[in-house]
Amino acid sequence: MSFRHILVLGGTTEARELAAVLAAHPGVRVTTSLAGRVSRPGAVAGDVRVGGFGGADGLAAWLRAEHVGTVVDATHPFAVSITANAVRAARATGVPAVVLRRPGWRPEPGDRWHEAASLDDAAVLLPDLGPSVLLTTGRLGLAAFAHLTDLRFVVRCVEAPEPPMPPRTEVLLARGPFTVPGETDLLRGHRIDVLVTKDSGGTATAPKLTAARRLGLPVVVVRRPALPEGVEAVPDVRSVLERLGLDDRTT
Ligand code: NAP
Repeated sequence: MSFRHILVLGGTTEARELAAVLAAHPGVRVTTSLAGRVSRPGAVAGDVRVGGFGGADGLAAWLRAEHVGTVVDATHPFAVSITANAVRAARATGVPAVVLRRPGWRPEPGDRWHEAASLDDAAVLLPDLGPSVLLTTGRLGLAAFAHLTDLRFVVRCVEAPEPPMPPRTEVLLARGPFTVPGETDLLRGHRIDVLVTKDSGGTATAPKLTAARRLGLPVVVVRRPALPEGVEAVPDVRSVLERLGLDDRTT
């Protein structure tokens, strides 16, 4: 039997969900690719490969060598390079590509959001918003805040961050999904004045926004980077399946 090989560029909840659905199709071989940033990634259905491809050319070579029929970029909205590489490799090889991007968050009544174009912009806003900051933008990029020596930071991330980072930093290692009561306790317990987040979207990490709203706290939201020119993303796993002409056999 010949298999239709689908490469899922992963590292997100949606990628894991998609792999589970694709693996349930008898005629499909699914391979999920992970960057290898997380030392203990959760279980993924189907095949898994770990580590970079060596840029767009390396990815194109992999698509050819592994006879990939479709590549699905289901990476995080802030993972700019791999998405650009996926689009370039797909164009170079003629392999169809689908980009999955979960929708961004929208402010609700009572939210006190401050939009920032980047982590550097977020750092500019912080001194006016309060001395105690909960930073949930991931373990990379903390250098943008390292000069803020007067502020106290609680950095929550999945894996331990590396310096440079602000001198007054407490690190909390935790992986979502989180809950509104849990996030409320965190914000209260650490006497947080302001929350900083990327506009990651999705439900797993959204409770911090609800908790901040209920406590009346300001939130600095870092806007998403743009998609590569000419690319239109689909918003969910169901839309990817439609593009692939497959149904969901796991429900
Ligand atoms: P990035 O800046 O776009 O990628 C940097 C390089 O890492 C890429 O050029 C590629 O190396 C490699 N890479 C990234 N994702 C890969 C994947 N799924 N499979 C194989 N190689 C991959 O990415 P990032 O922001 O560091 O994110 C890395 C991974 O973590 C992504 O898979 C993403 O879904 C996940 N993630 C990111 C964030 C975030 O905030 N950025 C949050 C949660 C999860 P080569 O050029 O050598 O191929």
